[in-house]
Amino acid sequence: MFGIGILKGLSVTLRYLGRRPFTTQYPDELRPIPVNARTNLLWFEERCTGCSTCAQACPDGCILVQTTPREDGSLNIDRYEIDFRLCMYCALCVEACPYEAIQAGGPLDDAAYNWDDLYRDKHALTKMAQQHLRTHDHTYPNGRKAPIGEEIPLHLGKPVERDRVR
Ligand code: SF4
Ligand code: SF4
Repeated sequence: MFGIGILKGLSVTLRYLGRRPFTTQYPDELRPIPVNARTNLLWFEERCTGCSTCAQACPDGCILVQTTPREDGSLNIDRYEIDFRLCMYCALCVEACPYEAIQAGGPLDDAAYNWDDLYRDKHALTKMAQQHLRTHDHTYPNGRKAPIGEEIPLHLGKPVERDRVR
């Protein structure tokens, strides 16, 4: 019948008239991000053993871990790099890491002007991780508290030449 469609449309409009809007005034207003959201990856060096499980789990091959053995049997992490140009944010690396050293929960507004800036070495990743801890009351994305100050067992690796072709 003529006008039924208009009435249906109007009824939808009236139903939503009194509700709060779903839209937000981004970037002035930021929506809370769910804990399990697959956002940018954060790598926490103080938790990482260099076992390379994450790199083996990554279907895109965008994680590079290079280690050398220490005298005490642990591994020195010479390089830890993530190629965010290839990453599809599947979080398989997060699930695979036995030590929760790599977690989703990084910034959403992580666009870069230069393509190659999305290739991040361990220093860039550590900067991102520390920025997260500073702004989140020293809490990891998974909700656990991070050790503070001298409690942090930093496994700082030896500086090495980067030989991977970008
Ligand atoms: S999120 Fe997926 S694609 Fe990205 S580094 Fe992890 S396993 Fe690889
Ligand atoms: S991030 Fe996790 S899985 Fe990857 S090398 Fe470090 S401890 Fe191993």
